[in-house]
Amino acid sequence: MTALDRLEKIVADGLCLGCGLCSAVAGPDALSFARDETGEPRPFAGPALDDAVMDLVYDICPGFNLEGLPHALADAAAHNDLVWGPHMRLFRAHAGDPHQRHVAATGGALTALACQILESGEVGMVAHVRAAADPPHFGEATISRTPQEVVAAAGSRYGPTAALADIGALLDGGVPFALIAKPCDLNALRRLAHRDPRVNRLVHYWLAPVCGGYMPDAGFRQFAARMGHDPDDVTGVRYRGHGCPGPTRIEHADGSATEHHYLDVWGEDDSQWVLPFRCKVCADGIGEAADIAAADNWDGGAPTREGAKTDPGSNAVIIRTATGDELAKAALASGRLVAEHDLSADDLSRMQPHHVKKKLSGLARSRGMERAGSLAPRLFNMRAEALDAALSEEARKAEEDGAARRTRQRRG
Ligand SMILES: Cc1cc2nc3c(=O)[nH]c(=O)nc-3n(C[C@H](O)[C@H](O)[C@H](O)COP(=O)(O)OP(=O)(O)OC[C@H]3O[C@@H](n4cnc5c(N)ncnc54)[C@H](O)[C@@H]3O)c2cc1C
Repeated sequence: MTALDRLEKIVADGLCLGCGLCSAVAGPDALSFARDETGEPRPFAGPALDDAVMDLVYDICPGFNLEGLPHALADAAAHNDLVWGPHMRLFRAHAGDPHQRHVAATGGALTALACQILESGEVGMVAHVRAAADPPHFGEATISRTPQEVVAAAGSRYGPTAALADIGALLDGGVPFALIAKPCDLNALRRLAHRDPRVNRLVHYWLAPVCGGYMPDAGFRQFAARMGHDPDDVTGVRYRGHGCPGPTRIEHADGSATEHHYLDVWGEDDSQWVLPFRCKVCADGIGEAADIAAADNWDGGAPTREGAKTDPGSNAVIIRTATGDELAKAALASGRLVAEHDLSADDLSRMQPHHVKKKLSGLARSRGMERAGSLAPRLFNMRAEALDAALSEEARKAEEDGAARRTRQRRG
């Protein structure tokens, strides 16, 4: 296959997540990054694209390379749950600052931790994402140097978000930073760390929201139209926050705004989630590569209609590494983070049943995709074989066959 064929196969197989990493490390002469005809951010071949670039991309692209913690960090963890992975501690917590807790996606744990990092002075920058100006339903990479900037970027961006678009410049800059990004973004950087020693030298903190998948451009347009909005007339979108999960707020060019209940956006049973194919088969929504991952804590995985109106927000927090543990302890000591009570791996499984299913079926789904001629996620440092072995033979076959069938259906 030519370098161009290899690039196009990633996209054609439905694996590109639009993170921007390939373009950031290969440079725009080899791979530019722009929206394609469906509205999704994608890499495009430039004149300098060659096999060496695609060898690099095939090694780090999170579409089909998912890597968890380096062995040394995972082995140092106090616990290692089959599904939830290496961890020092699981607990429920929220930001100590009521404003942070209120505006954040869930309980503001990630915002509070980022503020702790900046205020400690150990690193001066947090690379994360904020609401994009254009289009307003996307997220975009940003750098926060003050707690005020961190708070201004709080909340979950469910639309396409190229969190790694600026990572090349950050690594070239040589200044240490903390990174908050989706689990797949961190998976990709763990891959890049094998080839580029600057990653481990400069990324001092790896933080992640637990992630069930993002909403592609077409999904947002579908939702906006269903709720009576002209998607092209939308000037601002806040997916959640201002309570937990808080309303989804749509702002219009005439200055008006409409708020929708979270469950009207996503459906009572997530049935209205429109996910990219890659997110449906994701084997790491739980932040395996992070020092700390933060999640929602609703039993069954969704809020109740009444609870969503009054819940002030609390995160399920997964502390994976010694670095994460130190950071959390400092945030608890300073009051930026408030612990409520410990959680068990079973508690997390009850709150995140969709993630349990995805963890268990990761390898079977990869086998099915491969069987159907697709590139398939390669899983590193994720207990993939042990998780696969925990499935019954019948379930394993159903997952593999299902992934093969969906892969063929996608191709039409
Ligand atoms: C696409 C998506 C899907 C999710 N699915 C689940 C799920 O299945 N189960 C679950 O428990 N939780 C899920 N979450 C996580 C949840 O919405 C909260 O982000 C998490 O609980 C952290 O809450 P917080 O209050 O600490 O976040 P905040 O304090 O508001 O901080 C959130 C941080 O995450 C960063 N961020 C937001 N969106 C993105 C993005 N798209 N890419 C990279 N960084 C981002 C922000 O820059 C901010 O620094 C999802 C989040 C996203 C973005």
